[in-house]
Amino acid sequence: MLTLLRFFPVCRAGAVLAACLGLSTGLAWPALAHPAKPAADAAITGLPAIHLADPIPIGPQVKVGKLANGLTYYIQRNTRPEKKLELRLVVKAGSVLEDEDQRGLAHLTEHMAFNGSAHFKKWELISWLQTIGVKFGADLNAYTSFDETVYMLPIPTDQPDNVDKGFLVLEDWAQGLTLDDADIDKERSIVLEEARTGKGAGERMNRQLLPKLYNGSRYASRLPIGDETVLKTFKPAAVQRFYRDWYRPDLMAVVVVGDIEPARAEQLIERHFARLRNPVNERPRPEVAIAARSATEALVVTDPEAAGNSVLIRYPVRPAPPHGSFADYRTKLVDSLFSAMLAQRLQDLTQQPAPPFLGASSGLSALTPRYQSFSASARLGKEGAAPALAALVQENARVRAFGFSAAELERSKKDMLRGYERIYTERDKSNSADFVAEYTRHFLEGEDIPGIANEYHYARALVPGISLAEVNRYASATIPVDAAKLVVYLGSDKATGATPAPKQLMAWTDAAARVKVTARADEHLAAGLLAKPPPAGSIVAESHDEALGTTTLTLSNGVKVLLKPTDFVNDQVLLSASRPGGLTQFGAGDVAAARYANAIVTSMGAGQLSPNDMQKVLAGKAASVGLNFSQYSDTVGGSAASADIETMLQLLYLRFTAVRRDPLLYRSYVERQSESARNLMVQPQTVFGDAITEAMYGDSPWVARVPKPDDFSQLDLERSIAQYRQRFASARGLTFILVGSFDVAAIKPLLATYLASLPTAPLPLEVKDVGLRPTQGIVKRAVYSGSEAKSVVSLNFTGPATYSKEENMRFQALLEVINIRITEVLREQLALIYSGGMSGSMVRIPYEHYSIGASLPTGPDKVDQVLAATFAEIARLKNQGPSQADLDKVKQNWLQVQRRALRENAYWLQQLQSAITYDTDPAAILTVEERIGAVTAADVQAAARRYFDLQNYVQVVLYPAAKK
Ligand SMILES: [Zn+2]
Repeated sequence: MLTLLRFFPVCRAGAVLAACLGLSTGLAWPALAHPAKPAADAAITGLPAIHLADPIPIGPQVKVGKLANGLTYYIQRNTRPEKKLELRLVVKAGSVLEDEDQRGLAHLTEHMAFNGSAHFKKWELISWLQTIGVKFGADLNAYTSFDETVYMLPIPTDQPDNVDKGFLVLEDWAQGLTLDDADIDKERSIVLEEARTGKGAGERMNRQLLPKLYNGSRYASRLPIGDETVLKTFKPAAVQRFYRDWYRPDLMAVVVVGDIEPARAEQLIERHFARLRNPVNERPRPEVAIAARSATEALVVTDPEAAGNSVLIRYPVRPAPPHGSFADYRTKLVDSLFSAMLAQRLQDLTQQPAPPFLGASSGLSALTPRYQSFSASARLGKEGAAPALAALVQENARVRAFGFSAAELERSKKDMLRGYERIYTERDKSNSADFVAEYTRHFLEGEDIPGIANEYHYARALVPGISLAEVNRYASATIPVDAAKLVVYLGSDKATGATPAPKQLMAWTDAAARVKVTARADEHLAAGLLAKPPPAGSIVAESHDEALGTTTLTLSNGVKVLLKPTDFVNDQVLLSASRPGGLTQFGAGDVAAARYANAIVTSMGAGQLSPNDMQKVLAGKAASVGLNFSQYSDTVGGSAASADIETMLQLLYLRFTAVRRDPLLYRSYVERQSESARNLMVQPQTVFGDAITEAMYGDSPWVARVPKPDDFSQLDLERSIAQYRQRFASARGLTFILVGSFDVAAIKPLLATYLASLPTAPLPLEVKDVGLRPTQGIVKRAVYSGSEAKSVVSLNFTGPATYSKEENMRFQALLEVINIRITEVLREQLALIYSGGMSGSMVRIPYEHYSIGASLPTGPDKVDQVLAATFAEIARLKNQGPSQADLDKVKQNWLQVQRRALRENAYWLQQLQSAITYDTDPAAILTVEERIGAVTAADVQAAARRYFDLQNYVQVVLYPAAKK
């Protein structure tokens, strides 16, 4: 099915706990097999009727087949992007299948797929992928989860040999891995480094929480990263056993989507996979059961480095709902509407003067392919757990007792149908990678795959017939009452007030459940964003650039508009504008407050509408606009669906002309920020990042440091509004760039109405160089924070530079080449790191300079080796330059990326913006390939000598805090 039903992130597998418990409602699959039978089968004129009992057919766009050995395959021809093929090997085997002596080896097996196989010796595979432009990153090309391992291979098809070789790679992954003992041992160290990067407060808390969340089932002891003792001591035979037992055709699918004849794809599948065999006496693949919780329990988990405080109420697991029939599909639609309305109610609560929590979510979420559960969670504000638990319990109870209103349902249906419509509109522009993800889920979870056109038809036929009474019945049947539950407090022991005891958590939850809830009062909303449109201005000049396909308009108020209509996607318009200005326009004493001015003004809404009211008024519309200060510029960004351009321009007009002053929302913003800042400096990564900033810039007011709760008490509402208005009360000096699917003639009246009417009072429009410069010379610091044996090496090279497009290309090639070497040497040869590398930029404002940053996570005992190896690579590049082979890999990847980028609205927007900001010729977009071709190994060597200045860099190393 379309991603629409998945607008909430799924939380399971090795996902980071914070993200999980955080605030995702979880994918809301419905709990009940058959809530309320709808009155009649739905039908809309001109389309075949839908019979709810019927199965949902597989769409005509995909061929699904099965080989005699049990291997499943999916084939779809799709030419977006052109000359590209997406291949996947999906193995229905993950960490949950590991034996005790294999904990962590499903994941290690995945790593071994890049370490030698029947047709590719160690190194050959990665090297070949790089020569055809496929970048290899730490796990970027595969992932391991509880229930599955998925290998990803994007193949450019312009060379005919590539396609067959791509299938050969998949064949080798399926049953041809070498799994050499010595190579396994080497990979052991890399995986241990990977495990190290995951350590910290979240991981420590996870280990206490997961056994409870998974109710003692095998999932709790099978985190994909595994068990450290096992990883250090396992025998290579244990890896070989996992591979033999579970990598077999009946648990595998091959997915092929892209620029290929389906008949040819089928032949290739036959040729490469038909001879695979299941092992003799195959082990049955167990379905791991999770028992439903039988008793209520409370749990308090604290950690000195925890990022924040939260509560979670988890109700018993239940089987995932059935799928496959139209009735099941309809139930999912009902659940999606229910989830969206519940989420909006919780969101409304955060905008109260004394919000009970910073943010919250509630609903059904998938735990595994077979299980789901209802849960409610909240990030805590300064009042702590009691009001948050009360609000969660009572909002759920209110919905259970009184349901939603007709207006809420109407808005949700509008949003939902609009979402389907947009995906339908883009149906001929969908990327192969999106289809591949759907078929992967079909294989793993049985997700329906009727095709975009059919699904849009189903949604349009079914959604209007979903009644309020039905959704309300579903809500009251789905929200648990009196069920055994787990109540969890997760937090820092440095939280405001005392950490609650488990008994207290129970008492608060019970007390909340006893409170008698009342129905929610009716809302009264404005009809639209603006009561009436502003008096229009006019277009006073127009010019065209044929080569670029752009039109430039000058409006009667002096504002300019640059229009680039495209057919890259069917329903997307992007907006950007920028002018000299930004934070440096404010005095050194004002800049700290100015950093928050835009967020504060936005947090109060605009015109007559609070942010929540605005969201409701905009139901069914897709449009957004944001105004911001960067260091040296005032920026505007926005996006809209083609039909909602006017809404986007109205929002823009409001942002410039109608600040909404709301002291209560202001207080609410300040309290949320101040509470969020409370635990920042207990996290080692934050301490480290702040130390790097300090080492580079001292305590300059022009550089943002990690916020402290106290910073927010210095803010003042009137001053923030004044700072915002100082820049954004005027549109003078702005050129609004619009890129996307629109008709120039059709939007001209809208531009005249909303942009030509913007006020353009004079204001300073020069870049202000406040003298901010990085430290000179060699600076070395060590920082001690965190209790795990974790280190990070940070290096920053900076200096003056002379910018040109060609020089920037050489500079970026230098970084790409050194990153290939860092992976090859520091990771693969020396096993010092799992991930890490360099990035950098050439900057033209307020003066021409460059900066390069390296970030290399490692162990405290390996820091010296990491530094030595990194500087050795720098010296090698300076003395010998890069190998031609490495440079060719970089160029090949860039050509692939560039070809794709030229068909993307966001790339054009960014390039046109850059041409305006720096007053350069935008036609340079069309000659990027020539500049890529021109870079030589000697250029990169010269760049290495120029930019790795060993007399001028900042080195900061994070070490664990000394044990007390
Ligand atoms: Zn990994």
